[in-house]
Amino acid sequence: MPRQGVFEKMDIQRFFYSVVHSGVQLLFPTRCLMCGRSGQGGADLCEYCHQQLPFNQTACSHCALPLPPGTSDNAVCGRCQKKPPYYNEAFSLFSYEQPVIWLIQQLKFNEKLVHARLLGQLLAASACIEHIGAGEEVCILPVPLYKKRLRQRGFNQSIELARALSKKTGWPMDLQRVVRIRDTSAQTGLDAKARRKNIRGAFAVVEPLPQKHVVIVDDVVTTGSTANELSRVLKKSGVKKITVLSLARAPLNR
Ligand SMILES: [Zn+2]
Ligand SMILES: [Zn+2]
Repeated sequence: MPRQGVFEKMDIQRFFYSVVHSGVQLLFPTRCLMCGRSGQGGADLCEYCHQQLPFNQTACSHCALPLPPGTSDNAVCGRCQKKPPYYNEAFSLFSYEQPVIWLIQQLKFNEKLVHARLLGQLLAASACIEHIGAGEEVCILPVPLYKKRLRQRGFNQSIELARALSKKTGWPMDLQRVVRIRDTSAQTGLDAKARRKNIRGAFAVVEPLPQKHVVIVDDVVTTGSTANELSRVLKKSGVKKITVLSLARAPLNR
């Protein structure tokens, strides 16, 4: 019977797929970066460690600042009520706590690009992506590093994180049109007000972006002053909507 022939063909395809898939798993098995057990779903993370991650479940709907559990979904933090940021919305997958601090620091300071792959996969798989830019033309902008800093580090962690997102959504990454023109590495240790002052004038738009909706990707958002300054410059250049997407958002008073 011809019908049976079709089924047989599908079974053979499925069989070959499973053989190839198992072969890839055998040759390149994933391993949890945190505990060393086998990874789950093609990621270097096991189910147990995934459940231990500090997901940022209750957060300010404008700036993604972690808020106490039980706060309503549309809550806006005091700071955003007083002085709303230039960006329109922000999502942060995690609160900046352990073990996420360790995962990010390994990437940034020990050049563990395998961490970038895992963190990028987690970011691209997060539910907040579904809310961004449905039916719009969107561009991904990893926060640019100052060229001297880029030379020292050898890579921009925000670009590494944004790769998986670009692959999943099909939104292009722009790495040319916006640059960092001043080194602001002294940001660490400054309070919110000093950070705002220090970051002012750090970015320049070399050429306006063709897309009107920009998704800024950063690894860690501390006070939000970097994302806000970048947003100020982008809005001035004609961008209409800005979403800030970060891996982790520091709780208040950092
Ligand atoms: Zn694990
Ligand atoms: Zn806020």
